[in-house]
Amino acid sequence: MKYYILFGPPGAGKGTHAGALAERYNLKHISTGALLRAEIAAGTPLGMQAKALIDDGRLVPDEVVEGMIENAFNTIKDVDGFLLDGFPRTLPQAEALDSILAARGEELTAVVSIMIPDEVVYDRIAGRALVEGRADDASPEIIGHRIETYHAQTEPLIEYYKGSGKYHEVCGHPGTIEEVRERVLSLVETL
Ligand code: ADP
Repeated sequence: MKYYILFGPPGAGKGTHAGALAERYNLKHISTGALLRAEIAAGTPLGMQAKALIDDGRLVPDEVVEGMIENAFNTIKDVDGFLLDGFPRTLPQAEALDSILAARGEELTAVVSIMIPDEVVYDRIAGRALVEGRADDASPEIIGHRIETYHAQTEPLIEYYKGSGKYHEVCGHPGTIEEVRERVLSLVETL
């Protein structure tokens, strides 16, 4: 099985490009953000616990998302691999992923990172707010929290994965959606 991580700051375009990658390589796309939003929409206890944190631009507890990923690996069949989008987002999550994979006799295939500058994050998320209406996209203050959270907790993963030689980066800005998609697909083709 292949295990790819689609990495990058909020608004980098992970969700936008995941579909094309998943289709080309027969991967199951797993977005922890989308799974959490589904829990919120269904009004589950987990969703209710997660909502306040997400709406404030903070992360939900590591164990919550680690459980979601493990559950997905255990239940989803008939694919050639997984495309993780929005996970891992902290060093403990990255270490948990390594253990979950090791326990299955598997290992990470590659990290595909889409990089954009902070100013672009603000513009993109403000634009997306008008279309998707996500509560965590709604104000510059919350977007600011998410950028801070990214720099403090998620960005250190770049060094973690560079250490394993599995980190690969494409430029997410400037470029049209099609151009960035082509960069992502061409990169993965070389892996
Ligand atoms: P974006 O990529 O725009 O930040 P996501 O849909 O990936 O949006 O995530 C939305 C929110 O869901 C995050 O800000 C966070 O609160 C929560 N979340 C998603 N994935 C994780 C994770 N791996 N660990 C903790 N919280 C997460």
